[in-house]
Amino acid sequence: MINENEIRDRLVEHGNALFKAPREPIRFTEHNDADRLLSDLKHHPHAFVLASVMDRQIKAERAWLIPFRFMEKLGSFSMETLLKQSESDVRRLMSEPEPLHRFVNIMSNYFFKAVQRIAQQYASDASGIWTGNPPSATVVYRFLEFDGVGPKIASMDANILARHFKIEFSDYFSIDISADRHVRRVFARLGLTQRDASVDQLIFRARGLHPKFPGLMDFPAWEIGRNWCRTQNCECDGCYMKDLCPSAN
Ligand code: SF4
Repeated sequence: MINENEIRDRLVEHGNALFKAPREPIRFTEHNDADRLLSDLKHHPHAFVLASVMDRQIKAERAWLIPFRFMEKLGSFSMETLLKQSESDVRRLMSEPEPLHRFVNIMSNYFFKAVQRIAQQYASDASGIWTGNPPSATVVYRFLEFDGVGPKIASMDANILARHFKIEFSDYFSIDISADRHVRRVFARLGLTQRDASVDQLIFRARGLHPKFPGLMDFPAWEIGRNWCRTQNCECDGCYMKDLCPSAN
């Protein structure tokens, strides 16, 4: 019989430590200049939003590189510059000389519409999505209003803003865990879910374990999966869950 409260408490403890740690540079891509653009919430908050709109059906690193590729071609990534681009301009930027996304047509449409939404809804300042200490549900909802953004990305965006960029929300109830392959594997090995648990099962399990902030357990579980709890050859000796984990060897 596992002691799920102890397992949860340890994951939450590590999640809290990461949450309270000073802000550090975040790696969205493998390109320093692209990461700088995506982290520049003061001057280019729309870069973070537009990158997350692009994050589907391709590797995240490639999707999050798209704003920087646009900036290289346009010489600027200001909202003023983006608003001068017609939808066919955006399609050309997305497709030539090589496609930036697997689904150029639909993603060009989503990109174009996202720029228009930021201009109309937020007076060209995308930080309006998260400033003013809003409830987490409001932030997730605002991301969901963008065509192409589903609950997984909307919740991940809110989690990154809270955890890495230290943006304050009035609560964290609606920030869910991201059902990444590392997180799913670690939850199963810790005995928190069945091995073949669905994404929805994992999300609701995390909500039940830590309703105040389910997504807080996301990063610790992801780190355990990446550092020690690999698909093969687990290095349980280095894992801080070893004394509680029913799968430890
Ligand atoms: S103790 Fe081993 S099996 Fe358990 S979570 Fe850590 S690495 Fe995975």
